[in-house]
Amino acid sequence: MVAEMERGLRGDIHAQLKMLISYVDSLPTGDEHGLFYALDLGGTNFRVLRVQLGGKEKRVVKQQYEEVSIPPHLMVGTSMELFDFIAAALAKFVGTEGEDFQLPEGRQRELGFTFSFPVNQTSISSGTLIKWTKGFSINGTVGEDVVSELSRAMERQGLDMKATALVNDTVGTLAGGRYMDTDVVAAVILGTGTNAAYVEHANAIPKWTGLLPKSGKMVINTEWGSFKSNKLPLSEYDKAMDFESLNPGEQIYEKMISGMYLGEIVRRILLKLAHEASLFGDVVPPKLELPFILRTPDMSAMHHDSSHDLKTLGAKLKDIVGVADTSLEVRYITRHICDLVAERAARLAAAGVYSILKKIGRDKVPSGGGKMPRTVVALDGGLYEHYKKFSSCVEATLTDLLGEEASSSVVAKLANDGSGIGAALLAASHSQYQ
Ligand code: ADP
Ligand code: MG
Repeated sequence: MVAEMERGLRGDIHAQLKMLISYVDSLPTGDEHGLFYALDLGGTNFRVLRVQLGGKEKRVVKQQYEEVSIPPHLMVGTSMELFDFIAAALAKFVGTEGEDFQLPEGRQRELGFTFSFPVNQTSISSGTLIKWTKGFSINGTVGEDVVSELSRAMERQGLDMKATALVNDTVGTLAGGRYMDTDVVAAVILGTGTNAAYVEHANAIPKWTGLLPKSGKMVINTEWGSFKSNKLPLSEYDKAMDFESLNPGEQIYEKMISGMYLGEIVRRILLKLAHEASLFGDVVPPKLELPFILRTPDMSAMHHDSSHDLKTLGAKLKDIVGVADTSLEVRYITRHICDLVAERAARLAAAGVYSILKKIGRDKVPSGGGKMPRTVVALDGGLYEHYKKFSSCVEATLTDLLGEEASSSVVAKLANDGSGIGAALLAASHSQYQ
């Protein structure tokens, strides 16, 4: 993965990691001031947020947010329908702005737009969509500037707001993480999909042809979800799932790791055992044939069942697959499969984190002696946040990979919803009024 990162930074068109330049060359300092909005379009939900920032002294004075789930038909509809839906929800949210939030007279409201899909940024506030991922498949957005799409939709809603920062969710999480803890150097998302961003030396990015930023730094959005390698062995279940997916051959690492897919891998294994070893008796439960019927949160609930008779797991199998009575043995087998799939995912995710640390030289104690600087990785995403056995395994594996000494300087920190506040912070530092 480190080798692919280097290829991506050179601009090799065959590189698997796109290593996108974010145009974020300085991260929040704490001085940010004023009222800012953020909009976070993820995979399942989108969030709108407003925050009143009070600078170094007062920090976050007040924040409010709302979460809206994206109707599935909009994920495969038209670009205009999706952006109209988003802008309408945002306009409604702006309508509820109370007196605790203050916009100076004559100013336009400003927004940080977190967009968790691969984008070719052309500036901090513009960029064109490279491709949809995570179950989205919308005609006519690829190649378009997503900020113009949003701006036009906001106009159609009569909403007077300017998007001053377009950021990937990993970049937003990195910004939000840095605001909370100045030692944050990288951010990783483990949610519906997976991705990571980190702070790179601007002079280590051969494909960057612009002026070197004053800070000497540049945040890189790795788009690591698209990693694949013949060193990354795929099972028959991975291959079949990929083949039947909306984006065959793409996002292979993501398909082995992220929340959209883990439950589906478990379903495929159970299905094979049902067919070939009569796991659920003589008839294969028809519901088990349905792709994506077993969702990762359900897998997690089954995996965490520690009761002696695996009662929760049995109830889940009944609910989801429709088999009323399962023997204790079948329940144990099911839990074991969840364990295998989650552990593989977690260990691969930890290997990714380790690659970034290796890339920036924070994987070991400096050779000249001295102590390794405290190094914080901000992690976010529903999978990491809610799937305890998964997150524990990510952390344990990272410790294994780093070894005792280096791992004592590395902290994995949950940055809960850091991307929203991060985007608002970046909107503030790129405000049109400064
Ligand atoms: P997104 O990635 O869409 O921005 P989130 O970060 O909230 O959104 O992640 C949502 C994903 O997290 C879900 O698609 C699901 O796969 C996973 N997830 C949510 N809750 C749980 C849970 N309890 N156990 C395991 N995975 C979960
Ligand atoms: Mg997200």
